[in-house]
Amino acid sequence: MPDTADILRLENLQVHFPVRGGLFDRVLGRPAGPVRAVDGIDLTVGRGEIVALVGESGSGKTTVGRVITKLAQPTGGRLLFEGRDMTSVQGFSALRPYRHRVQMIFQDAYQALNPRHTVFEIVAEPLRSLQLVDNGKQLALRVSEALASSGLNPPGDFFARFPHELSGGQRQRVVIAGALAVKPELIVADEPVSMLDVSIRAQILQVLLDLRDKHSLALMFITHDLPLAWLIADRIAVMYLGRVVEIGTADEITFNPRHPYTVALRNATPHIRGEADRAELPSLQGEVPSAARVPKGCRFHPRCPLAFDRCKEEQPPAIEVGPQHLSACWLEK
Ligand code: SF4
Repeated sequence: MPDTADILRLENLQVHFPVRGGLFDRVLGRPAGPVRAVDGIDLTVGRGEIVALVGESGSGKTTVGRVITKLAQPTGGRLLFEGRDMTSVQGFSALRPYRHRVQMIFQDAYQALNPRHTVFEIVAEPLRSLQLVDNGKQLALRVSEALASSGLNPPGDFFARFPHELSGGQRQRVVIAGALAVKPELIVADEPVSMLDVSIRAQILQVLLDLRDKHSLALMFITHDLPLAWLIADRIAVMYLGRVVEIGTADEITFNPRHPYTVALRNATPHIRGEADRAELPSLQGEVPSAARVPKGCRFHPRCPLAFDRCKEEQPPAIEVGPQHLSACWLEK
């Protein structure tokens, strides 16, 4: 179970990208940008805690993951790791200790693995580049441990294989092993099982849960899939158009959602919605609008069937609706 101490804290985190308007914007006199990919997020992850970041594509959840792993730079707010402000730390040498402790697992194992490198070389690479081993014997030991922890046994059987010689599940396990080899304390996993068969998904989720239990590893699990988030996470944060609109324990968000967007997300999932939910709100229509043209007021109001006048004018604050449960909706005021 999670430790109470926060390992990661995001304070009013923002990632805005400058954009120049297109021809249509100029003709229609529409102001262009900036793209508010992430627009004021407050979030914590405890040591050994699994927090799922859930939302549709375009919600900004992947950008949050990239900021945490220092693959993208925030334009505002703070990123604190174990209380230390990492927001403006940049450069390979300055970031080396951080990269040792925070790793990322990508969605697409095909792209994440160099097809010309063997499994051994792939898993050994971060150990070498971060200078975490002194000799070949230590290197082989750390690679073996990482492969075994990822469920690739016996590890030696995989050393000389190339990615094309592995199944989809084995490739994703190699990606996990590459992240684990450096013994991180926090892993950001961006849709790590979305490209896998259902039976393999369960195995990979079990690997991640075992790692948390054995090593107190903290995990930020990024997904568009609410039931999957409920299966693995302690808490769920629901993102919409660059903001967290609801956050709470996995059970609360899944079975007692308060924000109309979360309810609509749940209604889109046949096996967890009930008859009452279907009557309460229609399923989501359309897509998340562009983050270059964020609506005034509540960002969900153009798609929200419950919107009223105030929603169009004022952004609702996060309101406590239960223990550890916050929802940003004027219906709660
Ligand atoms: Fe819907 Fe208004 Fe609540 Fe936004 S604030 S989710 S528009 S009811």
